[in-house]
Amino acid sequence: MSQNNFSSLPLHSLLLQNLESLNYHSMTAIQAQSLPHVLKNKDVIVQGKTGSGKTAVFGLGLLNKLDQKQFRIQSIVLCPTRELADQVAKEIRQLGRLIQNIKILTLCGGTPLHTQVNSLAHGVHIIVGTPGRIEDLLQKNKLNLDEITSLVLDEADKMLDMGFQPSIEKIIKYLPNKRQTLLFSATFPDEIKSIAKHVMNQPEHIQHELTHDNETIQQSFFSINNQINRTTALRLLLLHYQPTSAVVFCNTKKATTQLAKQLTNYGFSAIALNGDLEQRDRNQILVQFANQSISILVATDVAARGLDIDNLDAVINYEVSQDAEIHLHRIGRTGRAGKSGVACTLYSEDEHHKIIQLEIFLKQSIESSPLPAQDLLDNPSYQPRMCTIRIEAGKKQKLRPGDILGTLTSNKQIAAKEIGKITVTDKCTYVAVNRNIKSSALNTLKNGKIKGRSFRFKAINESPKVWP
Ligand code: ADP
Ligand code: MG
Repeated sequence: MSQNNFSSLPLHSLLLQNLESLNYHSMTAIQAQSLPHVLKNKDVIVQGKTGSGKTAVFGLGLLNKLDQKQFRIQSIVLCPTRELADQVAKEIRQLGRLIQNIKILTLCGGTPLHTQVNSLAHGVHIIVGTPGRIEDLLQKNKLNLDEITSLVLDEADKMLDMGFQPSIEKIIKYLPNKRQTLLFSATFPDEIKSIAKHVMNQPEHIQHELTHDNETIQQSFFSINNQINRTTALRLLLLHYQPTSAVVFCNTKKATTQLAKQLTNYGFSAIALNGDLEQRDRNQILVQFANQSISILVATDVAARGLDIDNLDAVINYEVSQDAEIHLHRIGRTGRAGKSGVACTLYSEDEHHKIIQLEIFLKQSIESSPLPAQDLLDNPSYQPRMCTIRIEAGKKQKLRPGDILGTLTSNKQIAAKEIGKITVTDKCTYVAVNRNIKSSALNTLKNGKIKGRSFRFKAINESPKVWP
């Protein structure tokens, strides 16, 4: 059984049954890391990005320890806004819907006080609300929190941003000292550290390392055996996914050069990015990769450091990384900003021990997927949509992107939409143009002028070189 199954936790059977019906088949990474502590009634700080499934962490925690026969307030959740409080209450209701007679009440501004006081009189188990209104009810003696066993601060950073710190501190004075406190936050500034220090008791600090949502990355693993070699497997994946921008990771410089050569010979638009490159060449490669004139970078981890490219739609581990953390770094480059990405890892029998380490680190079981069908190899390699023209003038000549766009579109033969990124550096400018209009663009530059002057220019990396 995978360690990511909810059923591995000491959860009430009705909660487990319901999770299945909600299609929560396995825990998100943050849930797997924090729920075991939460269910042990420990104080926990959970730091993780929006959308990582934090609500269920405390929702399940509160529901699991709830005694629904006792009609008194057992838990309180503080949220920064009414909308968030409503969402949280809805999620807790949903998680607890198989347990009968659970009363969850939201207490926020915007609803008349007396309505809330009436609802409180009917008996409530869990309160979700904003600090302002809850403080108000406490001061007016309309709310009794003497028997609270859990306090949750959700989106703590946002609550502080909104100036709720004094309210929160006052509310905490009304709570029993012996309680569980759970704190959730996307960031962890000093103010939160100090609150945590004051109001929590030896908290576990769960920090989710990933800078993206685990779920937006589709991770697949492919076992390579004698029947198929690594490069063939890689070609199949490239032909199948046809990524516009992909990084293929190797563990050594030598491997990157060899593999880039091989891919180029097969007709792919691929180039090696390693520590042997001159700065200027490295920059030029990165510009071409970012403007979509090169589809595949074959890189070492060191060379890829500081690579800041969004829209990476595939990361392929040609070789399994030396350790699990590097693996996460690699695949974290795909699926950025909520976009879906593909992460593929090739491994041989020799690398199987690294896969086992990864299983432990990722808390998930890894199974080999079938490679795309071999007949894909008959297809031609795909080509990037764009190509790059380098003009030998840049910031020193006071060139701006608009000047070049103006020249290229001046005779109305080239539409602006055929022109991609224009990158002006000190001494030269890189212009991405659609491959279909490359000769037309070169002609226009030959016959036209940029800001009244003529500069040298040429198309770079025109067609993949065939290596001897
Ligand atoms: P956060 O508070 O970290 O921003 P949420 O708790 O709002 O994230 O969860 C984001 C979404 O993921 C919600 O729609 C929630 O229902 C869903 N979700 C949470 N945990 C799981 C899970 N284990 N399986 C499937 N969906 C989940
Ligand atoms: Mg949340």
